[in-house]
Amino acid sequence: MTTCDLAGREAPGSPPAADPVPSAAPAPAAPATPAAAIAEQPPAGPGGHGAFSPDMARKDIPVLHRTVNGHPLVWLDNGATTQKPRQVIEALTTYYASANSNIHRGAHTMAREATEGYEQGRAAVADLLGAPAPESVIFVRGTTEAINLVAQSWGRDNLGPGDEILVPVLEHHSNIVPWQHIAKERRARVVPVPLQQDGQIDLDAYADLLSFRTQLVALSHASNVLGTVPPVREMTALAHRYGAKVLVDGAQAVAHFPVDVQDLDADFYTFSGHKVFAPTGIGALYAKPEVLRSMRPWQGGGNMIDSVDFGHTSYAPVPHRFEAGTGHIAGVVGLLSALKWLTSFDREAVARYETDLAAYAQQALAALPGMEILGSAPGRVAVLTFTLAGHEPAEIAEWLDQDGIAIRAGHHCAQPALRHYGLESAARASLALYNTPEDVDRLVQSLMRLRETAA
Ligand code: PMP
Repeated sequence: MTTCDLAGREAPGSPPAADPVPSAAPAPAAPATPAAAIAEQPPAGPGGHGAFSPDMARKDIPVLHRTVNGHPLVWLDNGATTQKPRQVIEALTTYYASANSNIHRGAHTMAREATEGYEQGRAAVADLLGAPAPESVIFVRGTTEAINLVAQSWGRDNLGPGDEILVPVLEHHSNIVPWQHIAKERRARVVPVPLQQDGQIDLDAYADLLSFRTQLVALSHASNVLGTVPPVREMTALAHRYGAKVLVDGAQAVAHFPVDVQDLDADFYTFSGHKVFAPTGIGALYAKPEVLRSMRPWQGGGNMIDSVDFGHTSYAPVPHRFEAGTGHIAGVVGLLSALKWLTSFDREAVARYETDLAAYAQQALAALPGMEILGSAPGRVAVLTFTLAGHEPAEIAEWLDQDGIAIRAGHHCAQPALRHYGLESAARASLALYNTPEDVDRLVQSLMRLRETAA
C-alpha cells in the first residue's frame, strides 16, 4: 500500500512502503481525506483510533482556523507550545470577569472559590500523573522552574564533593544547566550518558556509569528533538539499586501519552502547562511525598510560612511551603480546563492516532531527495527533526512560513543532542492530536516546491 491509500489520492513524495496506518475494514467508498481515512479506523483493537479523530480536537481550537500569509495555518510547532482550546480561553475569561481573587489568605467568598479552583487544579494534575495525593504536586512556572527548584532545594542538601548526576546527551538545556549550577556549587559532577546512533540512550553505557557516587539521574520522558522515549521505568529501577533519585522531565510526554508516576517509580516528575494545551507560566512538579517532606523550601515569602518571627520562622506543610508568593491562579484555572479537555478524549486512542500520523509524516518526508530525519528509535513521539541538503534550517522555516506552515529551526535547546549528529541547527516539525494528514501533505508539498525552486 502507498500513502495514497490513506487519502484516496497520492500523498506528496510518498514511497511505496510499509503501511503506517492500519487498514480500515473494507468500505464502500474511499474516504474523502486522509483525516477521514484515519478517523474511520476500526473502533478497537491494535492500531485502531477508537473514538478519536483529530476533528474532535480541531473544532475546539480557534487559532487553527486563522490564516497566515494568506494560507490556512498549519501548526507544526507543538514541541515549542501547543494551541489552546476555546474551553481554556473561556475559563480564563470567566475567571477574570467573575471570579478573580487571591487564594488562601482571604476570608471572603471569592477567595474561597479561587482557593477551591486552585486546589481542584492540583487534584487534576495528581490524577493526570497518577500521583498518590494532590499534596505531592507543586505548582511552578514550568518545567524549567521545577528542575531549578529540585536542583536548588534537594540538590543543595543531597549533593556533595565527588557525587554524580547522570544526564543523557538527549536532554533539553533546562535539564542540563540547573545541574551544572548546583554541581559547581557542591563540587559534584554532571556526567553525560551517551546516545546510540538511533537516538536512544545507550543503556549499556548507562548501566556502566551508574555507581554509588550517583545521587541523581535526570532524564526526559520524551525528547523534544529526537522524539525518543527512553525506557524510564527500567532506568529508574536500575538507578534505585544504587540509591540514586530519578527526575523525569515530562515536558514532551504528557500531551502525547498517559503517564503514571507511581508505575515509573519516579522520584520527581515535571511538565509545563503550555505544552499540554494550557496557558504559559504554569506547570507542575510532582515529588514522592517522603522526598518532598525532606526538602527545604526554595523561595521564601508569603504563603509558604506557618509563623514568622525575627527569632524563628516555621513553614507551611507541603506543598505550600514550595509555593512562595502569589501563584499563577488564572494559569491553574486554565490548566484545569486544559486537562479536562485532554482527558475527555480516549488517551490511548489519541496516542495511537499520533503514532500513525507520525509514521505517515516520516514516510512522506523521507521520500524527499536530500532529506535526513534525525533519530529512528522505536516508539518515538511525533517529533520530526530534519535537515534538507542545500537548505539552512532557518531558510526552510521561513519558506514554510510563507505557506502558512509553522515549524521551528535552530538548536531546539538541545545542543548536545544535535551535536551527536554533527549539527548545530535543524528544522523540526512537531505534531499534536489536532494535526491531520493534510497538514503533513501541506508540509511535504511546500518542501517539494522549495527543492524545485532551488534546482
Ligand atoms: N524539557 C523539554 C524536553 C522541553 O521540550 C522543554 C521546552 N521546549 C523544556 C524542558 C522547558 O520547558 P519550559 O520552557 O516550559 O520550562
